[in-house]
Amino acid sequence: MTVLVLAHVNGARLLPGTAHLVGAARAFDQPVHVLVAGEGAREAAERAARLDGVERVLLADDTRLAQQLAEPMAVLLHSLGAGHDVFVGGMASMAHREILPRLAGLLDVMGLSDVLAIEDASTFRRPAYAGNVITTVRLTDDGPRVLLLRENAFERAGEERSQPAPVEELAVPDDLPAPVKVLAEERHDDTGPDLESARIVLGMGRGVSGEESREMLLELAERLNAAVAATRMVVDDGLAPSEWQVGQTGKRIAPALYMAFGISGAHQHLAGIRDAELIVAVNTDDQAPIFRAADFGLVMDAAEALRLLRERSQTK
Ligand SMILES: Cc1cc2nc3c(=O)[nH]c(=O)nc-3n(C[C@H](O)[C@H](O)[C@H](O)COP(=O)(O)OP(=O)(O)OC[C@H]3O[C@@H](n4cnc5c(N)ncnc54)[C@H](O)[C@@H]3O)c2cc1C
Repeated sequence: MTVLVLAHVNGARLLPGTAHLVGAARAFDQPVHVLVAGEGAREAAERAARLDGVERVLLADDTRLAQQLAEPMAVLLHSLGAGHDVFVGGMASMAHREILPRLAGLLDVMGLSDVLAIEDASTFRRPAYAGNVITTVRLTDDGPRVLLLRENAFERAGEERSQPAPVEELAVPDDLPAPVKVLAEERHDDTGPDLESARIVLGMGRGVSGEESREMLLELAERLNAAVAATRMVVDDGLAPSEWQVGQTGKRIAPALYMAFGISGAHQHLAGIRDAELIVAVNTDDQAPIFRAADFGLVMDAAEALRLLRERSQTK
C-alpha cells in the first residue's frame, strides 16, 4: 500500500497545509509519496522532499496544470493510480475539493470528505450536521481510498530532515483534458499569512458595513500579521473573495485568536471556527449567537471597535 498526498502549492510555494496532510498520511504506516503539480513548482517539490515521512516526491511541472483545474488534475492522478492505494487531499483547498471527488468518480469508488481522524485504513471520523455530531464511518469496499482531510485536525510533519527524499519529474500525459481555458487571472495580494496557518484571523461579517470599516479591518490585519476571513454573506455581496469564506461551505481554520467583527454566528459559520483557541466577538446585538461561542464579547459598533484597536496599535 502506498499513500499519495496531493500537495498544496501556489506557484513555487509549498503551502503549510501540505505538512499536515503528510502528518496525517503517516497514520497508514505505509510509504508516503507527495505529488507536486503546477507550473514552475520545482521549489515547492524540493520543500516537500524535506518533510518527515515522505519517501518520494513526484513533480508534474506543466503549464496545463498551472491553475490546478479539476479535469486535468484528476486525470493526472488517475494516471498515477497503479501502485497507490490511498489518495489524500485537503479541505482547505477549493481545488482539492473539486479534484478528489472527480478522481473518486474516475476510480469508481466512494470518496470521503471532511476527515478529522484516521482510525485504520477503512475507518475514519468526520463531522455531520455542520459539526454538531462527530461520526465514525467505515468504508466497506476494497477499492482505493480517496480522502479529503481537514488539515488542522492533524499534526504537521516536521521539516528538519537532513537527507531530503528524491524528487522525480513525471512525464505528464499528452492527452490531459482542457475543457476550460483560463483567459485572465486577477490575483489578490497574497503577501499576508495564509488563512489556514495564520495565528490571528480577523473575521468580517455584514456588520462591518461601509468602505471605511472594511479598510480599517484590512489595515489592522496587516499590522497584526493576521489573515482575513469573511462570512458567506459578505462573499455573496461581492465584498470579499470566496477564498476568504470560513464555515460549512468555506474553509475550516484553527488560529490562536479569531476576532469576529459584525458576525451573527450562524452555525454554518461556527462550523469553520470551532477549532480556534480563543474567540472574541464584536456585535451591536447582545443576543447575537456568536456571543455563545465567544470567549470574550464586546457589545459595540464594529467600526468603533476597529477605530479603537487602530489607535491602540498605533500607540504601541
Ligand atoms: C447550506 C448553507 C451553507 C452555508 N455556509 C456558510 C459558510 O460556510 N460560512 C458562513 O459564514 N455562512 C454560511 N452560510 C450562511 C449563514 O447561514 C449566515 O447567513 C451567514 O454566516 C451570516 O453572515 P453574517 O453574520 O455576516 O450576516 P448577518 O447574519 O446578516 O449578521 C450580521 C451581524 O452583524 C451585526 N451588526 C450589524 N451592524 C453592526 C455593527 N455596526 N457593528 C457590529 N455588529 C453589527 C448584527 O447584529 C448581526 O449579528 C450558509 C448557509 C447555508 C444555508
